[in-house]
Amino acid sequence: MPADRLLPDSTTEDLLAMVRDVCRRELAPRAAAAEANSEFPREIFRLLGKQGILSLPYEEEYGGGAVLDEVSLQVVEEIGSAWATVAVGLTTHWASCHPLWKHGTDAQRGRWLPEMTGGGLLGAYCLSEPEAGSDAGSLRTRAVRVGEEYVVNGMKAWITHGGIADFYVLMARTSADGSHGVSCFLVPGDAPGLSGATPESKMGLTGSRTSQVRFENVHLDAGRRIDKEGRGIPMALEALDTGRLCIAATATGIAQAALDCAVGYARERHQFGRPVIDFQGMAFLLADMEAGVAGARATCLDAARRKDRGLPFSKQAAIAKLVATDTAMKVTTDAVQVLGGVGYTKEFPAERYMREAKVLQILEGTNQIQRLVIGRSLAKAA
Ligand SMILES: Cc1cc2nc3c(=O)[nH]c(=O)nc-3n(C[C@H](O)[C@H](O)[C@H](O)COP(=O)(O)OP(=O)(O)OC[C@H]3O[C@@H](n4cnc5c(N)ncnc54)[C@H](O)[C@@H]3O)c2cc1C
Repeated sequence: MPADRLLPDSTTEDLLAMVRDVCRRELAPRAAAAEANSEFPREIFRLLGKQGILSLPYEEEYGGGAVLDEVSLQVVEEIGSAWATVAVGLTTHWASCHPLWKHGTDAQRGRWLPEMTGGGLLGAYCLSEPEAGSDAGSLRTRAVRVGEEYVVNGMKAWITHGGIADFYVLMARTSADGSHGVSCFLVPGDAPGLSGATPESKMGLTGSRTSQVRFENVHLDAGRRIDKEGRGIPMALEALDTGRLCIAATATGIAQAALDCAVGYARERHQFGRPVIDFQGMAFLLADMEAGVAGARATCLDAARRKDRGLPFSKQAAIAKLVATDTAMKVTTDAVQVLGGVGYTKEFPAERYMREAKVLQILEGTNQIQRLVIGRSLAKAA
């Protein structure tokens, strides 16, 4: 059952209809098998590039659709409903393009951005390290300036598209000055000395490849640094604010898919001579799930509309990420319950949705970190 959406105009209604069609024909039918076999769907990202979905947020001069965040997030939600791995991949790719798009020179943008947003190149976002997770500012990967080059050494952890990306946006230390000593670089995927480790064996999102990435004497032209030295952490956090909105939209999509699965089953399944949805205990559970999904979508769109108007939205992005991912965890768990025994089997996608929802409470800043962001904003406001 498609989500009931209020969109700004008929052009965006047509866009959403096109996205739903791509999801129905190309994504949903392939998701279960690819997840079961841990197969990353690289060709889907080329397709999203061809359809103009990958380039939706960017200006027309870079081949983009220049759509509002209010719209692009609803696109991510639709994709999340069909296949979470693709929505998380899209989020990661956009986060990887963000520093160049917002802070690159015209020459840097003109050289790289059109291919990055057209589906030709897939990005990875390298912030986390084995010893620097939530405390990302303590990262140790070093980029040492030698003449017109930087030489990079270090290890990044948990990198989505690690080892298969065509480019890596890398946060590396250029001075010992804590979080002020980190700079941002655009690294080609085939740079000598860059290598991806064996993929992590995850409980969900198994179609998405996650691995450590090693940088061993990687030589980078100084022209691949984005913005000034020391600007890396603010750029990383800016990309994360937008990324959190995309993760919130992905979570809303997964929750919607789990709700649809549960409602469909509860209408068909008969016990005690009636469809189980006729029992109030079941209908109330489903009603709470429906209300949760609507609430998740509302927090996400509220943050997006603030962003579209140029207002601060970091706190709202943290709220959306927290509310939507916690909702997805609850709704997917309840969906398994609604299906009874078959909910616990791979015959239905409910158990997969539950495994996929869990990781969204962890990545792009854990939900404890979202509470930290929200709490700090309250302390400041006092
Ligand atoms: C599937 C997957 C994909 C990912 N993709 C990427 C990617 O593409 N790029 C990237 O850079 N990173 C990526 N990450 C990393 C992710 O962002 C980190 O896992 C996350 O930031 C948490 O870091 P950590 O795992 O080191 O946990 P830790 O920081 O070690 O945290 C451990 C626990 O302590 C809690 N904690 C930590 N600090 C505090 C605090 N101050 N207050 C309260 N509680 C706290 C955390 O919430 C958590 O529960 C990915 C992770 C996963 C699982």
